[in-house]
Parts: sequence; C-alpha cells; structure tokens
Amino acid sequence: MSRIAWVCFDVGEVLVDESRVWRAWSEALAVPAFPLQAVLGGCIAQDRDHREAFALVGRPDWEAVAPTVEQLLGPLTAADLYADALPTLADLRRHGWRVAVCGNQPARRRDELAAAGITAEVLTTSDHLEAEKPDRAFYDRLLAALGDPAPAQVAYVGDRVDNDVAAAAAAGLTPVWLRRGPWGRLGEDRGGQAAATVDTLAELGPVLRALAA
Ligand SMILES: [Mg+2]
Repeated sequence: MSRIAWVCFDVGEVLVDESRVWRAWSEALAVPAFPLQAVLGGCIAQDRDHREAFALVGRPDWEAVAPTVEQLLGPLTAADLYADALPTLADLRRHGWRVAVCGNQPARRRDELAAAGITAEVLTTSDHLEAEKPDRAFYDRLLAALGDPAPAQVAYVGDRVDNDVAAAAAAGLTPVWLRRGPWGRLGEDRGGQAAATVDTLAELGPVLRALAA
C-alpha cells in the first residue's frame, strides 16, 4: 500500500448530518417523518434508489417540491456539521495530509461548506465536476482537480458502499468506509473493497497511518 497523500471527504453523512434535510422533505411533502424515514430505510436496505421512497409514501410528484425543500432548508451551516468534522480536518492537515472535500452535491454547497468552516485545499462538488458518483468520471475528474496524484495515494472517505467504496476502488483510489448514517449502517462491503472501516472521523488519523505502514 502506497502512502496516502490526500484525504478526500464525501459530504452527506460524512461531514454533514443530513437530519435537517430529511425533516425538510417531510414538511415539503406533507408526509410525517416516521413513515418517510422508515420507507427510506427500507429502500436503502433493499439497495433501491432512495428517491423511490417518495413515491412509496404517495408522492410520485416529489420533484415538484424540491424548491420548497431548499427554501425550508436554507443554507447548510456549522450547526449541520458532525461534531468530529472540523477537528478531524484540522488534525489531518496538521499531520501533513492534504485535504479535499467533494461529494454528490449542488454547486451552492461549496460556498455553504466554506462558510460553515470547512477548510480544504480542494473543495468542490459533483455539479462543478459535471459528474456524479458512482460514475467513473466523478473520480477521474476529482483526481484531475487534485493535480493527478497516483490514485492509490488518495483516500476517499464515504458512507456508501456503492458510491463511495466500490466506485472509488474501481477508480483506483483507497476507500475508507465510514459506517454512520443510514447507508453506512445498513450497507455491507460484500466485495471487501474498503481499505479500512471506521465508525467516526476521529479514528481516521491512526487508520491512515496504519495504511501507510
Ligand atoms: Mg454520503
């Protein structure tokens, strides 16, 4: 295993706690939080696209309320970050790792994350890359944004086995699976593709050091 030079973070359920996002969906769809979130969990457990949950709770017209969700949500702020997000980014930087942030996110999240205190050498989104996980182009363009380091020297930290672990491994990156949020808890790394698995970001430093050993 080559030494890890870059640590790139996914956003949803890695740096950002998406609880408020899902409450906004409940409100916008006029569907109580319990059935929406339970059906969402069912979709995740069955490896179905989570957006199928909207139709299953009776709102096949969900795309029409997306602007309302954004209105209710407003910008993501520091209060939406997991408590270990900022300390981990600072700690990794202090120990010499280069830090990047990029997930499947709308373009406006870049400025919101920066305003929330996220500091990264490269802070970008799928919208900026014009490619979404799990497409190979997302990872290829991410590597280009980092200045084309050797892919294996880039650890990609994400909560989803499909989008973050398997897809990053297929592009030659070193996936680190964070088991939090619904995808992280329900997923199974059947292919054993994660180079490491953690429950919190605070575990990352020692894990990255072990990967280099
Ligand atoms: Mg995520």
